[in-house]
Amino acid sequence: MVLEYCVAPNGNVGIECPRCHKVIELPLKESELLAWNPNETFIQNQFPKLTPGQREMLLSGLCEECWNEIFDEDGEDLSTFDDN
Ligand SMILES: [Zn+2]
Repeated sequence: MVLEYCVAPNGNVGIECPRCHKVIELPLKESELLAWNPNETFIQNQFPKLTPGQREMLLSGLCEECWNEIFDEDGEDLSTFDDN
């Protein structure tokens, strides 16, 4: 995994959105993130407690706000990411 992240004082993972450069803290410990092998386990199985938007941050780094803006521009529906 090549994603850039930082660790908040409480041990949670924070990710800086490459589009708006806001750092979003996820309800996820660094150890939990490092325990994930993306080649073996689907992200939704590894992190069922995260929202689809939060999981998307782990994949793309983009925050939910930017995702929504991008998808609004394209007229796509983010809900298609909810189920799979
Ligand atoms: Zn953003």
